Amino acid sequence: MGSPDPFPERARMLKGCTIYTSGAPCPMCMSAIYWARLDAVYFACDLKATAEIGFSDAYQYEDFKKPLDQRLIPIRQKLPEGAIAYAAWRHKPDKHPY
Ligand SMILES: [Zn+2]
Repeated sequence: MGSPDPFPERARMLKGCTIYTSGAPCPMCMSAIYWARLDAVYFACDLKATAEIGFSDAYQYEDFKKPLDQRLIPIRQKLPEGAIAYAAWRHKPDKHPY
């Protein structure tokens, strides 16, 4: 049981847990939910209802569907060869799996 995980070898910090919220999770909360590997999310009000009371998170979900350079906040890759932290992480023998 639980959420499907494309990386089952990774930590499942909150495996077996479910979250109930008053509104559909914003992208930041949803990201935390994914990282924690919760089993399920239940919410009362959808993104449209949430926007109607002044919390507009739906546009972010829509923006994420666009290519990086077409988003409201353009995202561009710079200096990928400079990402020495990735190499250090890759070769770290005692790293915690995500
Ligand atoms: Zn949130």
